[in-house]
Amino acid sequence: MKSDIFDFAVVGQGISGTLISYFLAKAGKNVLVMDNNYIGSSSKVAAGIVNPITGKKFIKSWRIHEFLPEAKIIYDELSDYLGIRTYTESNMIRSLYSVEDENIWLSRTGDPEVKHYMLPVADTEEFGDIVSKPFAYGELTGTLQVHLSDILEAFKLKWQMLDQYIIDKFDYNCLIEQSGSFSYKDLFFREIIFCEGYQAQCNPYFENIGLAPSKGEVLLVRILGAGFKKMYKDHIFIVHQYDDVYWVGSGYEWNSNDDLPTDKIYHKLKAELERVLKVPFEILEHKAAIRPTMHARRPIFKPHPTLRGMYIFNGLGTKGSSIGPFAAKQFARYILEKIRKI
Ligand SMILES: Cc1cc2nc3c(=O)[nH]c(=O)nc-3n(C[C@H](O)[C@H](O)[C@H](O)COP(=O)(O)OP(=O)(O)OC[C@H]3O[C@@H](n4cnc5c(N)ncnc54)[C@H](O)[C@@H]3O)c2cc1C
Repeated sequence: MKSDIFDFAVVGQGISGTLISYFLAKAGKNVLVMDNNYIGSSSKVAAGIVNPITGKKFIKSWRIHEFLPEAKIIYDELSDYLGIRTYTESNMIRSLYSVEDENIWLSRTGDPEVKHYMLPVADTEEFGDIVSKPFAYGELTGTLQVHLSDILEAFKLKWQMLDQYIIDKFDYNCLIEQSGSFSYKDLFFREIIFCEGYQAQCNPYFENIGLAPSKGEVLLVRILGAGFKKMYKDHIFIVHQYDDVYWVGSGYEWNSNDDLPTDKIYHKLKAELERVLKVPFEILEHKAAIRPTMHARRPIFKPHPTLRGMYIFNGLGTKGSSIGPFAAKQFARYILEKIRKI
């Protein structure tokens, strides 16, 4: 490592740690990132869907009018910074199951709050005879698919080249506070930000932050020649990844003690996909991860009550792709402002 003294250490490189590190580095700070390279991290398993309208009543997602434009600007910046495509704008086809569903949809298309996200007529041509048609369809626009795994991988490679990245499990017992800054093994930093996702439950500095983790399981499947570009929702989501490979997920399981894939959900997802698709598919992979959801359903950013320069950024829940950019930018601004005042 070229330097052993840093302005910041960021623990955890999911989407939270990636974004906060990016903003601090952009402000000229020297940031060290530490991550244990865990394959079951939420950001690596997520589809990265940004969906402005959710639920059975097609309600506008919390603060999406602020989060969505900011997310696009920030992901565009990240695309330039990392030299990759960080997201795709792809509409979402939503299944409607009854006359009542259709009526709710139609009434929402007249609501000025949401109508610009809802197309008057759904174009489902690309799904043709490949899927079993539900009662009717609606089409959402303004939806994004954020390529979280690609962002994480490109960021890791870039920061490894910069010699500012350590792959290791952060050992809380080795952190020592010394007159307003921190030492960790043979490294020194002035401030530290924890972004460990649901594994923050093991963080002794921030106990009981209100995490209520929820497990999700997904399949990666090959559907030869399907050619779906839009995202498709019929109870399960089907989201294109690359070539003929699609992400299928995902469901919620609360109170799960582990992040391992289960036979039960494998068979459930497979059965759902058999119901939706009229063509054969091949299951390539089955993955699981735990979302850092909160009891209060809101992200948190907190300074430590007594240790100056220590923070936690967490709780992106089910919406890391949409909330993450806005939240990380605000939090980075808050920290930088605080430092300026010292
Ligand atoms: C199945 C599923 C589907 C989802 N789909 C979507 C979606 O479509 N759209 C959306 O917006 N969101 C989705 N999410 C939610 C999204 O994944 C999360 O909101 C987001 O990824 C959380 O990011 P994070 O950085 O806070 O946590 P994480 O991604 O969990 O990252 C935390 C990182 O910290 C590391 N870490 C933890 N402890 C330590 C330690 N002691 N030392 C070193 N490293 C450590 C972990 O290994 C990990 O890399 C989904 C989640 C799941 C599980």
